[in-house]
Amino acid sequence: MTAYVSEETLDRSQMRDLQWKRLKQTINRVYSHVPFYKKAFEEQGITPEDIKSWDDVSRLPFTKKHHLRENYPFNLLAAPMEDIVRLHGSSGTSGKPTVVGYTQNDIDHWADIVARAIYMAGGRKGDVLHNAYGYGLFTGGLGLHQGAERLGCATVPISGGNTSRQITLIQDFKPRVICGTPSYILNVGETMKKMGINPRETSVEYAILGAEPWSEEMRTTIEELFDIKAMDIYGLSEVMGPGVAMECKECQDGLHIAEDHFYVEVIDPDTLKPVPEGEDGEIVFTSLTKEALPIIRYRTGDISSITRETCKCGRTTTKMSRIKGRIDDMIILRGVNVFPSEIERCIMQMKEIGTNYQIHLTKKGVMDHAQLQVEVSDSFFESLPEKNFENPTCKDLIKKIQSTLKTEALVSMEVCLKQPEELPRSEGKAKRIVDRRSSDSLSVSS
Ligand SMILES: [Zn+2]
Repeated sequence: MTAYVSEETLDRSQMRDLQWKRLKQTINRVYSHVPFYKKAFEEQGITPEDIKSWDDVSRLPFTKKHHLRENYPFNLLAAPMEDIVRLHGSSGTSGKPTVVGYTQNDIDHWADIVARAIYMAGGRKGDVLHNAYGYGLFTGGLGLHQGAERLGCATVPISGGNTSRQITLIQDFKPRVICGTPSYILNVGETMKKMGINPRETSVEYAILGAEPWSEEMRTTIEELFDIKAMDIYGLSEVMGPGVAMECKECQDGLHIAEDHFYVEVIDPDTLKPVPEGEDGEIVFTSLTKEALPIIRYRTGDISSITRETCKCGRTTTKMSRIKGRIDDMIILRGVNVFPSEIERCIMQMKEIGTNYQIHLTKKGVMDHAQLQVEVSDSFFESLPEKNFENPTCKDLIKKIQSTLKTEALVSMEVCLKQPEELPRSEGKAKRIVDRRSSDSLSVSS
């Protein structure tokens, strides 16, 4: 293994020293340039001089998504507007997006970080890279794009959607690397099969997948479908965009954090105290090199754990586990916490089951009610004599799904089988949860 940059193989004390120098610069920058942070420091009773050692980091204030919304559009920027060269945002459910800005140095760092990530996943200079992430305010498309160009890949900015055109270009341009959300790339592969094209015979060797939580079982499905290796990429616009962490192709077990640019903590989301290494908690990032939007202790809402054991690829950077779920997506059913990715893990082990599912949440009286709608596989559906689900085979399958969910995810759910392709297909981020609990409770009048 040769890492793309030497920072990936620093020993821990060298990395700590580099991080400390950059952390101090970041703290000084936000304190002197961003009124929001000056006030937040004052509320904590601290100034930058009080942060003397790593133990003092816990005295720094947290930043949450609502802080970005409250400072819409530009009040968190720590660089003058004439130095900003790019604005991105994430769409908010309540209208206004959260806005993030970048200086040219930020863009250069981001490109370097993503180039490093693509290299880690097997991409090399000279490869054709098919980028099916959405382009636009969302950081996925342009984030991957500039990193791919930086690495020297022939970058195809196809964006999401228009699946048949994607397939034509994959056949004609012969990409070695493909990027997108796992649910969408799966959709592309399944569509290929329906068109009589064998996805295993395409030129693709590596996939870089992210922007939504996915499971190991989903990875296996995609890898077998295309005969490729699929690696997980992580990032979020508030921290930078894709590339904050990336899985190496050598072990495909946890994502290397670009620690020379981001300091990671894992906290208990309730007590806000750090959790021990290896235990699940909320991932928190502090940027170390950003100029336009330096961010202090950003609470990502993503649940993961970290390890500092040296990876077999030779990189020494801290690794985070694949995201187990978002705190916001966590369903609480009769006191049991469950993430959609755990349900995915349970059902995708089964041969009878396809790859698409949705969880519908409603109220029955005061109780939350969950219905899992899941497509059966093509071969299972073809084997049904009447092509419907009114038979003992299907009733047995429903029982099998329910008992697996009960033993492995500890949840009870109604299960509703669907025909292949009956549920909506992903054109970008998959919609796994349909929550009608609040609208239902409003509509109950009789
Ligand atoms: Zn590794």
